[in-house]
Amino acid sequence: MRQFTEVVPPARRGHEQAVLGLLRAYGPLNRGELSRRCGLSRTTLHDTLSGLLAAGAVVTATPDEAPRGRGRPAERLVLNPAAGQALGIDFSRRAVHVAAVGVTYEIVGTAGEAHAPGLPWPDRVALAERLVRGLLGGEVWRRALKGVGVGVVGPLAGAWDGAPDGVLSGVAALLLERFGGPVLLDNNTRLAALAESTWGAAAGDQDALYLRLSYGVGGGVVAGGVLHRGADGVSGEIGHVPVDPAGRPCECGGTGCLETVASIRAVLDAYRARGGRGDDLPALTAAVEARDPIALGLLSEVGGQIGRVLAALSNAIGPRVIVIGGELAELGAPLLEPVRKALDAGAVPISRHRLTLRRAALGDVAGALGGVALALGESPLLSRYPAPEPDLAPEPEPDPEPEPGLADSPGGGRGGRGGPPPRPFVGWGTAQARPRLPLTPLPSLPSLPVSRGRRAAS
Ligand SMILES: [Zn+2]
Repeated sequence: MRQFTEVVPPARRGHEQAVLGLLRAYGPLNRGELSRRCGLSRTTLHDTLSGLLAAGAVVTATPDEAPRGRGRPAERLVLNPAAGQALGIDFSRRAVHVAAVGVTYEIVGTAGEAHAPGLPWPDRVALAERLVRGLLGGEVWRRALKGVGVGVVGPLAGAWDGAPDGVLSGVAALLLERFGGPVLLDNNTRLAALAESTWGAAAGDQDALYLRLSYGVGGGVVAGGVLHRGADGVSGEIGHVPVDPAGRPCECGGTGCLETVASIRAVLDAYRARGGRGDDLPALTAAVEARDPIALGLLSEVGGQIGRVLAALSNAIGPRVIVIGGELAELGAPLLEPVRKALDAGAVPISRHRLTLRRAALGDVAGALGGVALALGESPLLSRYPAPEPDLAPEPEPDPEPEPGLADSPGGGRGGRGGPPPRPFVGWGTAQARPRLPLTPLPSLPSLPVSRGRRAAS
């Protein structure tokens, strides 16, 4: 995971975060209550609230809703219920998906849109912004955001891994310009695993393996109740396990990786090479439904290769649950039954009949929902992840002098006026256990036709 934040005076950022944190924790407060709890001077609190009110992060409660006493009730301040609390964005190879949660951690909504492969980053970020604006009623309340969790393709080394910023700093700068920060980047498939383990098919399971079969093939590992990141951020690169030494070259530089046989493109290429007629996934799906022997034979072979990789990983990691997501998983039993058979054949006997295979439950917005979980940073699954930037403690008197050129215009953002580039945050805190994420579950989950055994009740 990499974190990027806007360049703002640390004191002002600290004051804002302190006030927003109190309103999250305690709900509506009047100015006196806020002042007592945050320890800011009247002047600093006034300036901080003025900025937050102008930016739409905070709104005043109407006096009618305040407790009545003698005289006019004190104006109370609340987080803007119309503002998204945290955003998740999944930049997969051919689509952008977004998700937002509100101030009470309810899921405001999710959205997604496909795009041509290779779409330039500015266009992908603009698409994400349009989708987010659609979710939030046209307005992005930058200063109300606790964070933006962003999934991107490929391993994502952190600052501590010694990796250069590369293209990701540019992407982060675009995101900061559109949404404000902090922006947290991580591998999008690992974020999907995080979401499935938080709200989806592996919710409550302490040991789970997630595999996504899409235009790329990747996964995520939850071991002992925590999401495993691995050295250099490579944990979950299941798509690059070699399955055929004489196979096709892979994007990673290897040969015959699982991705070269089990991605959507690879399956479609193999289908046509065997005489099948179909250029896209709907055509292949129709062929499978029509019991086309070429399609069924191919899926049986591909499922066997997937199952053997999963069996090997299972023997190494020891998951209780394996979740399979991505568009190819929607093909159902013709692919997943061969996976299960190969898994049974290759798993060590002690786990063979205890291992549960499930279809993913959150669909194609799993990565974006995982971004939300990353941005909120409160899931125990993230307890071994580097801690996000801590809210800075408010500073008592004297009031800081505003820095020339960095003052906000009312309602305007801080990053959209050609200011300094974002800086990678390097002051990582120590990993620590966090409270369970109190999110409302999604209302309905699809049926899980390949599930075997009883779902864990924990
Ligand atoms: Zn590869």
